[in-house]
Amino acid sequence: MVGSDIIVFNFSGFCGLNMASAKSNNTNPTVLSRQLLKWFDANRRDLAWRTAPGVARDPYRVWLSEVMLQQTQVVSVTPYYLKFLKNWPNVHKLASADDDAVMVAWAGLGYYARARNLLKCARQVSLELDGVFPDSEAGLLALPGIGPYSAAAIAAIAFGRKAAAVDGNVVRVVARLDGLDRPPAKLKAKVGARVMGMVPKARPGDFAEACMELGATVCRARNPACDICPWLKSCHAGASATPEMWPVRSPKTPKPHRKGWVFWVERDGGEGVLLVRRPPKGLLGGMMGFPTTEWSTQAGTQSRNDEGLRLASQTLPKAGDWQVLEARIKHTFTHFHLELGVVRGRWAGAWRADEVPGGDWYRANELEKQALPSVMRKVFAVAQKQG
Ligand code: SF4
Repeated sequence: MVGSDIIVFNFSGFCGLNMASAKSNNTNPTVLSRQLLKWFDANRRDLAWRTAPGVARDPYRVWLSEVMLQQTQVVSVTPYYLKFLKNWPNVHKLASADDDAVMVAWAGLGYYARARNLLKCARQVSLELDGVFPDSEAGLLALPGIGPYSAAAIAAIAFGRKAAAVDGNVVRVVARLDGLDRPPAKLKAKVGARVMGMVPKARPGDFAEACMELGATVCRARNPACDICPWLKSCHAGASATPEMWPVRSPKTPKPHRKGWVFWVERDGGEGVLLVRRPPKGLLGGMMGFPTTEWSTQAGTQSRNDEGLRLASQTLPKAGDWQVLEARIKHTFTHFHLELGVVRGRWAGAWRADEVPGGDWYRANELEKQALPSVMRKVFAVAQKQG
């Protein structure tokens, strides 16, 4: 429907004036590709993982940056990327790193499964592939933590392969460019084919980065800057009064609420506070944290103090002088909201290693240096305040 009608309707019911007459209607992939690369050459940001135009990229650095950039913004990634490169400048060094050191270095970047897969992948590449990353999408896809988007991005940027790297940003840009009136989840194949048609043989890596750059800096989710966009004259959404209406939003399903209890256990004798390692699989898998109950969607699991005291006795292997703190911890994960009640207590006697499997004691000043996930940092802050 690009440029074909006077009135444009989209899924949300918006009715806007289609400025088709102002468009060049040039949706030819080669032209679009040339326009985008010209814009990129003049406007590319100088990011820590980029080299000067035309300079070959180190696959290790490309892979590291792409894993860190999954679901995370450039501004958050940059200091972590630089820290990792300083600590582990190549894949062999990272492969031989201590797990805990890597998790501590990753702490705060979120989505911790990425860090565990990063290590697995580094070890596989170092030990089984002699430190050489596969140079094809299929080969990269077979490695831990590399999904279709990252495989395409790494293949294009590090190895100059013709590949369509399509993430949420690219779907948004192309949905606007072509006026695609379907929700993003239903557009991936169509957008993938469209992008593939635009990837130039000569500069596939630059094209992948240019698409990402356009989505991040110009065709933003809110307030797209159409007036400085290289595709304005060809863009369906850019010709409307409200380009941000694309892509069509799926009706939002509300996130469920889960509740539970977390236990702050101190020890007589100065050993500090108890941390346990969470099970290797699942949310926050393998991370250290304070002991908790299951997180349940059933109503009322943490609304009553006597329940917190009962669950402390049930969950922990020793009796303590438990006390329910007034504050509640609220945290939102990708798929649910969590509310935790906090029970604080003290254990007497000496520590035995088998007392809590996977557990250990840390003084408060050591806790700050641990790779605690954000929700556990909130528990730490509350317990410190109410201590
Ligand atoms: S013209 Fe506007 S809506 Fe279209 S691609 Fe450019 S920034 Fe996005």
